[in-house]
Amino acid sequence: MQGEKNIWLMTQKRVEKTMEMLGLKPGLKEYLREPRRVVEVSLRVQMDNGEIDVFKGYRVQHNSDRGPTKGGLRFSSTVTVDDVKALAMLMTLKTAVVGVPFGGAKGGVTVNPKKLSLRELEALSRQFILELSPNIGIDTDIPAPDVGTNPQIMAWMTDAYSVQQGHFVPGIVTGKPVELGGSQGRDEATSAGVVSTIISALKEMNMDNIEPRVAIQGFGNAGFHCARILHDMGFKIIAVSDTGGGIYNPQGIHPQQVLEHKNTSSSVCNFSGCEPIDSRQLMEIDCDILIPAALENQIDEDNAPHVKARIIAEAANAPVTPEADEILDDRGILVIPDLLCNAGGVTVSYFEWVQNCQSYYWTYREVSSKLKKIMERSFSEVYAIAGERKVNMRTAATLLAVKRVADAVSLKTTRSHCYLDQK
Ligand code: NAD
Repeated sequence: MQGEKNIWLMTQKRVEKTMEMLGLKPGLKEYLREPRRVVEVSLRVQMDNGEIDVFKGYRVQHNSDRGPTKGGLRFSSTVTVDDVKALAMLMTLKTAVVGVPFGGAKGGVTVNPKKLSLRELEALSRQFILELSPNIGIDTDIPAPDVGTNPQIMAWMTDAYSVQQGHFVPGIVTGKPVELGGSQGRDEATSAGVVSTIISALKEMNMDNIEPRVAIQGFGNAGFHCARILHDMGFKIIAVSDTGGGIYNPQGIHPQQVLEHKNTSSSVCNFSGCEPIDSRQLMEIDCDILIPAALENQIDEDNAPHVKARIIAEAANAPVTPEADEILDDRGILVIPDLLCNAGGVTVSYFEWVQNCQSYYWTYREVSSKLKKIMERSFSEVYAIAGERKVNMRTAATLLAVKRVADAVSLKTTRSHCYLDQK
């Protein structure tokens, strides 16, 4: 993606701004601006028709000063190395915001997984992890699922890596099925974290006595579980969408029933009792909370002036462009930024890794209560910084994260040479 919609340039710009605000020295700024390592691989897969196809794969490790790098693997036909760099940098910030002792990484393969047979998908997944194996490890870089990948793919990857190493290595990826060392609660962790930040925001905005109406773009892992948890808490889910289109019912939609419909018809569209809408209309619908839970750049300067929600909770990564951020700020709409809002996923991934390393497993209740504490604490810390420095939540979260990473680097370096500008 070129120009202003290039999320790598956008993410760098946002980080640049906070590094200026923190007065970091030029060398440190340059160091944090770029990834530490970019790995590009060619994946050779024999297709069902006997032909060989070659797919491009990437793994970007942005920063490991606070711990091993961590981040998902995305299978999508639109993946570029710039997207992966941006998402890796976001992971560095995300783990720092919630205080999880990891750095940031991301990976991806340029492929439409829906066009592969199950056997082809398995072959590609195994090939990818084996090609990455010289550069990953339980103490160095730990992948996880992202868009287009899932626990089954993590199971194949764990198996391929374990066979190569000669012993079972469950800690090499997170987001595995529970039977292979996955954590209780991992499936819904991102959404449970999103919901926790929404509850905190409603309290801060004195909106906790209303019955909030919610619109959600995307009905995959993040979108569905957000809808389900909020519905169970008494919120009204009035609109949801996926790649096929969207549905709207001001009386409320039952997420579990929509999922069952989607499982049989492959889209949320045509669910009974709902009006059809498209994904752009969903962004402008009259609601209290808007949850983008699909892709990047979904709220831009064109639709930001028409958003009616009072809170936007970024379950997706980078769904709001910098231009839209300014418009939403001016309109007093609270944006809970991705690096805080969807950090529940990496937090429970961290719990999974800890459990794998110790071979000692926690209950669902233990996982949920530890996650809730971290999300509530992180929201309060970011909200306090936003208030003190009179900045929006994204800038506050980025300031907190960059400061934590810069502090880690600084402690490894002679302070006077590297850290803060003395002015
Ligand atoms: P997923 O593949 O399970 O679901 C994505 C959903 O978005 C699907 O329902 C798809 O149909 C829909 N979608 C795609 N393009 C769309 C469009 N243009 N309009 C409407 N819907 C569209 O992926 P996921 O794991 O739910 O991830 C969604 C977002 O959340 C991504 O940005 C991802 O990086 C972010 N995220 C996910 C996790 C996690 O643990 N799953 C953690 C952190 C962040």
